Amino acid sequence: MKLSELKTGETGVIVKVLGHGGFRKRIIEMGFIKGKTVEVLLNAPLQDPVKYKIMGYEVSLRHSEADQIEVLSEEEARALESGGDGADRNDAVVAAQDDSTDKELTPEELSDAARRKRRSINVALVGNPNCGKTSLFNFASGAHERVGNYSGVTVDAKVGRAEYEGYEFNLVDLPGTYSLSAYSPEELYVRKQLVDETPDVVINVIDSSNLERNLYLTTQLIDMHIRMVCALNMFDETEQRGDHVDYQQLSQLFGAPMVPTVFTNGRGVQELFRQVIAVYEGKEDESPKFRHIHINHGHEIEYGIREMQEHLKKYPELCRRYSTRYLAIKLLEHDKDVEQLVRPLDESAEIFRHRDKAAARVKEETGNDSETAIMDAKYGFIHGALEEAEFSTGDKKDTYQTTHLIDRILTNKYLGFPIFFLILLVMFTATFVIGQYPMDWIEAGVGWLGDFISTYMPAGPVKDMLVDGVIGGVGAVIVFLPQILILYFFISYMEDSGYMSRAAFIMDRLMHKMGLHGKSFIPLIMGFGCNVPAVMATRTIESRRSRLITMLILPLMSCSARLPIYVMITGSFFALKYRSLAMLSLYVIGVLMAVVMSRLFSAFVVKGEDTPFVMELPPYRFPTWKAIGRHTWEKGKQYLRKMGGIILVASIIVWALGYFPLPDDPDMDKQARQEQSFIGRIGKTVEPVFRPQGFDWKLDVGLLTGVAAKEIVASTMGVLYSNDDSFSDDNGYSSETGKYSKLHKLITKDVASLHGISYEEAEPVATLTAFSFLLFVLLYFPCIATIAAIKGETGSWGWALFAAGYTTVLAWVVSAVVFQVGMLFI
Ligand code: GDP
Ligand code: MG
Repeated sequence: MKLSELKTGETGVIVKVLGHGGFRKRIIEMGFIKGKTVEVLLNAPLQDPVKYKIMGYEVSLRHSEADQIEVLSEEEARALESGGDGADRNDAVVAAQDDSTDKELTPEELSDAARRKRRSINVALVGNPNCGKTSLFNFASGAHERVGNYSGVTVDAKVGRAEYEGYEFNLVDLPGTYSLSAYSPEELYVRKQLVDETPDVVINVIDSSNLERNLYLTTQLIDMHIRMVCALNMFDETEQRGDHVDYQQLSQLFGAPMVPTVFTNGRGVQELFRQVIAVYEGKEDESPKFRHIHINHGHEIEYGIREMQEHLKKYPELCRRYSTRYLAIKLLEHDKDVEQLVRPLDESAEIFRHRDKAAARVKEETGNDSETAIMDAKYGFIHGALEEAEFSTGDKKDTYQTTHLIDRILTNKYLGFPIFFLILLVMFTATFVIGQYPMDWIEAGVGWLGDFISTYMPAGPVKDMLVDGVIGGVGAVIVFLPQILILYFFISYMEDSGYMSRAAFIMDRLMHKMGLHGKSFIPLIMGFGCNVPAVMATRTIESRRSRLITMLILPLMSCSARLPIYVMITGSFFALKYRSLAMLSLYVIGVLMAVVMSRLFSAFVVKGEDTPFVMELPPYRFPTWKAIGRHTWEKGKQYLRKMGGIILVASIIVWALGYFPLPDDPDMDKQARQEQSFIGRIGKTVEPVFRPQGFDWKLDVGLLTGVAAKEIVASTMGVLYSNDDSFSDDNGYSSETGKYSKLHKLITKDVASLHGISYEEAEPVATLTAFSFLLFVLLYFPCIATIAAIKGETGSWGWALFAAGYTTVLAWVVSAVVFQVGMLFI
């Protein structure tokens, strides 16, 4: 009987917990484990919730929750003892009433009876038409239902019984369906059966000679969060045809056991039932074959799902019967049935609003409705899984012909890498070369604005603040907006066109050598744009271990915030032809450090095995301009917001620290004045720490302020050096040397005075110092926003601080070594 039917004071033994995954898991976590005795403390009629005592403590459940728990009461157990095995529930109750002896059962006897009772497993057979469900049903139950080589033979659910290894299976042969949408009566019927009858385990029969299409239904069953075992039926046919698939791998990727079967002769049936028992007995934790996976439908849809789930979760009645994820997906598919289910909820308007918003964004970006997008994502998942399971076939019609054709080139063993690096080369070249033009315009504009204010504003601290603080600081950074937009444009294009996941796919082998997974590759590439969204993008990585390592090494990917300082320094110290080489070397060193650290981390810090998971390979498509535009702009907007916020504030603070306290002698030269300012004193204090790197106090101050955001390193230096008038004549570009001479001269002068050498002698030392400085900027503490993001995603300050700490130590060591070794050669 149901737990809800037990009266106050009665006890029962839990036989099984029904319902879908999420609900079951929660109930089981509460202690309602099969075989445990539960006592009803208070079950007043019509009163919710009911109080129970289980495993020594009290819990309360709602009636509807208790409805999903099957128990064996003492009377039923007694009836079983006397009435024998075959008695079903009604007989048991009748028998119990007849039983006049009314002897007390010991707890042992009770749980013994429960064990016997729970050895019956309700199994539903689900699959495409004509995949062999009825053949299995007949083979296992000894029935003689009609099998036919055409669809629609099974019109209703047939129930049969089979036995294996002491378990009894109640098999339900359901009508064949291609999917679980509400298009046909069969589909609705199957859905209703799965929800209302709550089978313990579903056998998903798959026609393996038509794997790709058949797995589509499997992905929908995964959405429903149902416990299942897959039968790869018709395996004889695929063998004859010479198909190959690594079904072990495939089952790990789908998180459900898969067994090759031939139902016409019974091959694999025993193994199939063994797996059903294993799933039923809850061996979920023991193998990657038993786990609940989420199919990633792309960020707009996933975002919509999460938003809707927030609301759906507030309705426990609903959650009990359905996985909220499944409901949200069905809503996005505009499923009439689920819409009807949701409409009466008082937050339905909100839910539909989220649905419509997500659908509209999908439409804008892909030109497809959300149904199609979900379908594409599911086929992308299947395609990726099959590729990983090394699926190959003789001759077969191909649903995604163009995609597969392009993939044959882009993921080719030999061509894949060169093409990928070519694309990266184009991306970075375009960023720097094309970006140079608008950069020059903005630079001119900023210069003009500074001059304008200098000329027309009365002298005083406010003017100084505007010119040296705001324009000097923000101006030094805002000029990089075009380059950042171009970089983001490329990244967005690669993501939206589907190429990014191919890049991840071909990088998979290499990433495994780093102790990571190919999926880590996408966040790492995104890290070149900005580490913050990249940290969030690690969410698609299922394995916690891979995800953690990816987050830890992400700061070593040189984000675009570091670009301003690279350009500023390489532009000042390296002649034009070496400039891109110097810049490239930074990116490469960052990546190399990431490889080294990732190997170290996976060996010593975050140990453990990795569970395999699917890399979705969605069909290629031309992204719409609108979508690309929006994704690029969304990222660029964050940059501008930073500019107006933290960078503006930091620039003013740096300026003020450098301006105050006002000197006693108003004619003091700017250089001396800065040294006695607050910032000068701070810089001087930390100078010994950076002695091995040869940094002077101005560079140190730059590094300190860069903790807030790395662009601030550039803006700080802009402010600090704008105060130095030693070489006031020329500020700009010299076509002769190809360098921005002012900063070059100023730093060289400072280096000369730091080491006590002449200006000429200091020139090579200054270049070395500048390079060590760039290395430090590349590697050290990413920025507060990134650290906060790591804290948010790992849920632990420990890992966030670890990331902050190790990067800084690494930066200190690497830049000290480079400087000291370099000095030997000067
Ligand atoms: P249902 O529509 O899913 O119930 O499929 P049926 O059980 O009616 O089977 C459809 C056809 O496939 C029948 O002709 C079966 O004999 C045949 N069939 C079922 N399983 C296998 C198998 O493993 N191998 C081969 N070659 N044929 C099979
Ligand atoms: Mg059938």
